[in-house]
Amino acid sequence: MTLWELSDPCSRVRGIGSQLTADLGSIGIHTVRDLLLHAPRSYEDRNTPVSLLEALQQDVPANCLLTVLRHEYIGGRSGRRTLKVLAHDEQTSVSLLCFGRDFLANVLRPQTQIRFFGKVSVRYGEVQAGSFDVEPAGTDSRGFGRIVPVYPLAGRLTQGVLRKVIAEAIHGYADHVEDTLSPELRKSIGITPSPVSTARAISDLHNPRRIPEARTARELLATEELLLLQLRTHVDRASTRVAGAREARDLPRGLASKLVAALPFRLTADQTAAIEDIWRDCSSDTPMNRLVQGDVGSGKTLVSFVSVAFQKEAGFQSVLMAPTELLARQHADNAARLLEPFGVRTALLHGGLKGSIREALLRALAAGEIDFLIGTHAVFTAAVAFRKLRLVIIDEQQRFGVAERTTLRQKGLVPDTLFMTATPIPRTLALSLFGHLSVTTIRTMPAGRKPIITHLARLGNEQKVYRAVDAELAAGRQAYFVYPLVDGSGSLSLKDATAMKERLEREIFPGRGVGLVHSRVPEAQKAATMASFTRGELDVLVATSVVEVGVDVPNASCMVIEHAERFGLSALHQLRGRVGRSSMQSYCFLVYSDELTEAGKQRIQVMHRTSDGFEIAEEDLRIRGPGNVTGMEQSGYLKLAIADLSHDIELLQRCALIAQNVVDDDPGLLSPEHSRIRDALKAYTRTRLSE
Ligand code: ADP
Ligand code: MG
Repeated sequence: MTLWELSDPCSRVRGIGSQLTADLGSIGIHTVRDLLLHAPRSYEDRNTPVSLLEALQQDVPANCLLTVLRHEYIGGRSGRRTLKVLAHDEQTSVSLLCFGRDFLANVLRPQTQIRFFGKVSVRYGEVQAGSFDVEPAGTDSRGFGRIVPVYPLAGRLTQGVLRKVIAEAIHGYADHVEDTLSPELRKSIGITPSPVSTARAISDLHNPRRIPEARTARELLATEELLLLQLRTHVDRASTRVAGAREARDLPRGLASKLVAALPFRLTADQTAAIEDIWRDCSSDTPMNRLVQGDVGSGKTLVSFVSVAFQKEAGFQSVLMAPTELLARQHADNAARLLEPFGVRTALLHGGLKGSIREALLRALAAGEIDFLIGTHAVFTAAVAFRKLRLVIIDEQQRFGVAERTTLRQKGLVPDTLFMTATPIPRTLALSLFGHLSVTTIRTMPAGRKPIITHLARLGNEQKVYRAVDAELAAGRQAYFVYPLVDGSGSLSLKDATAMKERLEREIFPGRGVGLVHSRVPEAQKAATMASFTRGELDVLVATSVVEVGVDVPNASCMVIEHAERFGLSALHQLRGRVGRSSMQSYCFLVYSDELTEAGKQRIQVMHRTSDGFEIAEEDLRIRGPGNVTGMEQSGYLKLAIADLSHDIELLQRCALIAQNVVDDDPGLLSPEHSRIRDALKAYTRTRLSE
């Protein structure tokens, strides 16, 4: 078995009970593999002792071998006594202040040798240490005589506990894993001449004998992960590039032209170019695999609808998968409004459809009486059968991949696939991550849009913001108010959506209609609230970040985000994109509190300075590192276990090339030398999809 197949739950590891399982789960460690790949953030060298004099000269904790002289107790101001252990080495004496650790009196016996690890400094005329680890020399402990890993912690987790359970996991699992990469693959990646085994790399990552070993180990494991990531995308691509999957045939464009001509506006040049790209792809003999990226409101959805018209006229069906039911509904409403007049029969498959109504819909779909089906991932379940599906549109997520394609292929389908995303992918990453997709970028916004004016306000000055919003409401416009929390649970002194809905309704905008949506509002109610906000019956919509993607109410001109410092950059950008969707002037108000972290401050400044989604994405990458670029993170696409793209971009690019070569030579990865990587890939793909 390879490392990547270690999907047993952590609770199988000795010493991990239910409480610890929960604590580990809260930082994303669920499986044995997650635990083994929880990389130390640094290491303490407790291996080679130095003298107290040397220790004094360095600014970091040091490791010394000392002899205990005697114990003293010193009085504290509160009358509590503190144990003070006097110890020395050849040249120097030191006072070890054992605050609250009286038990050390039994451990540090006079005249015995002890191992010490801590920071020493000169205070009150003597050499002192106040926080340190000690143990009698000669005892066999995990703490000394080695290089000790220092892990990222959260909640109740402690270094000691993590060190112990990770050691158990290495012992129980890692020591037995097979290498993921065959010698041939290692050679082509350049892990030569003395490659360590995967098992050894895991052990070195946590317990290196010398620090450079840990670096080598991390690199091997990161390489494995990135190679799997790239293999996954290239296998995926290869599986759609079925030679001669169909005849090249120019799709008719009459219906699409009529649709475009009937729009109350003209398409932007970028929209037209995107439509051309798609038409060309869909008319060729190779199924399309295209990503259309463009800022919120740039008109991607419309582009996809025009593509549906091509398919309809050629006699094919299309399906659109949205990330949430709210968005699916909205797309379905728009599709009905724009496409039905041209004879395109649309339908929404939603969770509320039950029994005979659902049956009827599925029958109509199978009979080809529905041209365009819209829904969430439920549109790909086994019960949903199409007559002639030819176009799959995926809105706002890259998760659609191997599993869904497999389902479709089992139904004998190799459709054209169109991904749409408003998460601007930084140039530095796009090529490597989406090398398997053709990319079209919509950069220009529809004509006549005024840039959104962004105002910053310190918490405490929000009355000004409320007054500005009030003026907009009085002019017949609508506003969003977004909060980081659903309700005030917990001790954080944050405003929350539920309480603020009440306040805005009663005190701040009395007489106005105020609605509330968040993740815990039932779907049907959410849909009803959204619908009445869309119709203009509600003036104010209070929400959490659920309104982040896709919601489209052109009459809304104000976006107020309170505790803006709590949101990530791309979330802020997405939220701001909810306004400015018509020709009227729109405003975004970012209300921030004093408890700004440096990163929080930078984010708000970036939002103030620019509205270019690509620039914001680059900044996001710079401030937080790519693993955290929201949107990609949400999509599950970039949840990397050990690789870190802010350091490993070059490695990623190298892996992309290798993956391409491997897959080009052997698209099914069927040759025996690939058997382990095939298994690893299977496991890797499975966990990614189930995230
Ligand atoms: P996206 O999916 O990129 O967020 P949409 O396709 O939903 O954008 O478009 C946002 C809004 O702009 C919709 O109301 C849409 O009808 C409108 N729109 C799209 N293209 C244009 C255009 N060329 N000119 C004016 N308005 C447009
Ligand atoms: Mg959209």
